[in-house]
This record gives sequence, C-alpha cells and structure tokens, in this order.
Amino acid sequence: MDFDWDSLTFSFTATDTMYRNVVRAGEEWGEGELIPFGNIEISPAAGVLNYGQGIFEGMKAQRADDGNIVLFRSDKNAARFAQGAKRLGMPPVPESLFLDAVESVVKSNHRWVPPTGRGALYIRPVLWGSGAILGVAPAPEFTFMVYVCPVGPYFKGGMTPIKLKVSDEYHRAAPGGSGGVKAIGNYAPGMMPSKMAKVEGYAEIIYLDAVEHQYIEEVGAANFFCVKDNVIYTPDLTGTILPGITRASVMQIARDLGHEVREERVDVDMALDADEAFCAGTAAVISPIGSIEHGSKIAHYCNGEVGPVTRKLYDTLVDIQLKRADDRHGWIRTLEL
Ligand SMILES: *Cc1c(COP(=O)(O)O)cnc(C)c1O
Repeated sequence: MDFDWDSLTFSFTATDTMYRNVVRAGEEWGEGELIPFGNIEISPAAGVLNYGQGIFEGMKAQRADDGNIVLFRSDKNAARFAQGAKRLGMPPVPESLFLDAVESVVKSNHRWVPPTGRGALYIRPVLWGSGAILGVAPAPEFTFMVYVCPVGPYFKGGMTPIKLKVSDEYHRAAPGGSGGVKAIGNYAPGMMPSKMAKVEGYAEIIYLDAVEHQYIEEVGAANFFCVKDNVIYTPDLTGTILPGITRASVMQIARDLGHEVREERVDVDMALDADEAFCAGTAAVISPIGSIEHGSKIAHYCNGEVGPVTRKLYDTLVDIQLKRADDRHGWIRTLEL
C-alpha cells in the first residue's frame, strides 16, 4: 500500500471497515456484521453517554518476521472483556464471538498492518449501553463494535527511560470500585492529573493505593514493576489494579528466565530503593523508568540507561510477539488471510 508508515504515531487513523453487533437486553448475541468505517448514530439518552456504561479493550495485530499477521494472547482480552461486561451490568460477549469479530476486522483491514518493526494495527473492541434510558440503570440495548487503527512503534529511535512522579493528591481506583476492569469511566478522571504532570515535565504519574497512600498501584494506564537484587516485584491484583495481559506475560517470561517474581504490595519507599523499574502495557510493551519523584525524595535508576533486566524482558517479549523466538506457551495466533 502507498502509505508513509514512518509518519505513524499513537494516534487515530480511519481504516476501511469496522464490526458492529447490537443486542436487546435479555436476548442472546447474534452474528454481527462488517460495515464501512464511519460515524454511528446514537440516542442522546444512551446509557453510555449519560452514565458511562461501557468498556473497551486494547490489542495489537503485528506483522511477524515471517510476514504473517499475528495476534498476541487475544483469548485473554476476550475473557477480560466478558468479565468487564458483567461488572458493568452488560451482557458478556461470548469469547468465540469476540475473537471472530476481532479477526474478521483485522483480516478485512490487513492492508493497514504496518511492515514488521514499523508499528502495529491497534485493535479497539468496545461494548456500550446504546439504548436510551433516563434513570440510572442498565440500558435496554447494547452495541459491541471493533475498529482498528495503524499505530507507529512506541519507541521511535530507541527506548528512553521516562521520568515519573508519585501523586499524593489523586487516586485511580478504590476498593470495591471498577479499577480492575477497562471501564470507560476510569480514564477521564486521570486526564487532568496526567496533563498537569506533563506540563511539569513528567511522562506520567504513579498512583498509590487509595486507603493507605503507601503502595504503588499503576503508572497512568500501565502496570508497574521494579527489580531489586534480581527479584521482580509487581503489585498484586486486589481489584483496584487492571489485570494487564502484558503484566501476566512479563511475570511468566521473568520466571522462564529464572527470576523470582513476587506479586505483592509494593511499598513506594521500597520501589524508590529498587535497582530497576519499568511499566508494562500493550501500547508500549515495556517502558523503562529513569526516575521517580515522591515529595522531596527522588530515585534515579541505572544512570538514565535501560537496566539489564528490563532490556532482557523487553527483548524476550518482542521476540515471542514477532515469532523470532519459540512460542512455548502458545501465545501467538497466526491469521490465515
Ligand atoms: C489496559 C491497561 C493496562 C495494560 O493492560 P494490557 O492488557 O497489558 O494492555 C494497565 N493498566 C490500565 C489501567 C489499563 O487500562
């Protein structure tokens, strides 16, 4: 395709087709359809617009080294999407329907999958309460859609460790809330704190737990890791942390590489004292952290370089994703065009 792949960043680009499936409350999901990409019509009284009844997923299709288009652990996204739907009072999309929808949109837009190493086709499944409802209650109709956008490589010109700040003022999620699912309403409250941090020169903020204000939860919309004496630490899933698929994969790879991995409460003071720190999520895969500020304390990791454990985990994960390494856990799904 005649397209300047090197101009891609992580931003919206319209593609050819999208998937749509609509169900009435109480009925079973039917087949759904591929339609041209474009605007949709929705009632101003839709549950999603008024009460935020909606969830999303974020996945990537990439062109592997062998030229094939591959998905990474898409079954995990299907399962998480079904869990999120239940939490927000929406009919869960059957996992096989979710996977078929995702694969059909990727295949239909395959010309938008960037060449190997020059980006990915970002996949965005969404589920919304689309029916009109005035009182605070589940909508009478739900819409499941999938659209895709080509995005550039997260690290243009190599990985640069990021500068972060711990927020003592804002929290992302509280126990019993919706922090553990990709609910659309979880993200807007983080925009202003994140923007303020960016104005001050930080890449993102680190959220602490909302009860004791002492334990690290997440970095913006990515999971946190730190390394101390070759042991890898990440906050345990208490319901306030999004169970990232990259997080689970990093933990498995670290164990495969012989590291001890501890999933437990991560005290911010311990993290400041660690040897390396990084964050993980689908978009960036793994982002090395160069420094963290918390009040008057500041921790610098690895003299601003990418730490050896962070580098090894990143390389191993990317090698698996692009089929350069053995897929020993069966994480890769190759699409037949
Ligand atoms: C999506 C997301 C992540 C990362 O999850 P992945 O499955 O690895 O992409 C982490 N934290 C939050 C808040 C998220 O929304």
